[in-house]
Amino acid sequence: MTVHALVRSAGRRGWTLRCDLCEHTFTTAVAGRPEAVAFARTHGWIVGERTLCPMCAVTDTARRTA
Ligand SMILES: [Zn+2]
Repeated sequence: MTVHALVRSAGRRGWTLRCDLCEHTFTTAVAGRPEAVAFARTHGWIVGERTLCPMCAVTDTARRTA
C-alpha cells in the first residue's frame, strides 16, 4: 500500500509523514501507523494516494475545483 511507503517510522519519536510537493514533514508520537495517519488528517493533511501537507492540500483542492 502507498501509505505504507509514505509514512515512516521515526524511531522513538513516532511516525513521520513527508509532503509530496514540498519539504514539510509531520511527526506524531503515536504508537501505530493508522493512528499517525488519523492524527495527520485531523491536522489537515491528506494521506492517501498522495501525501500533502495542509498548505499544499488547500492549493491542490483549489486547483482541482477551479
Ligand atoms: Zn506541502
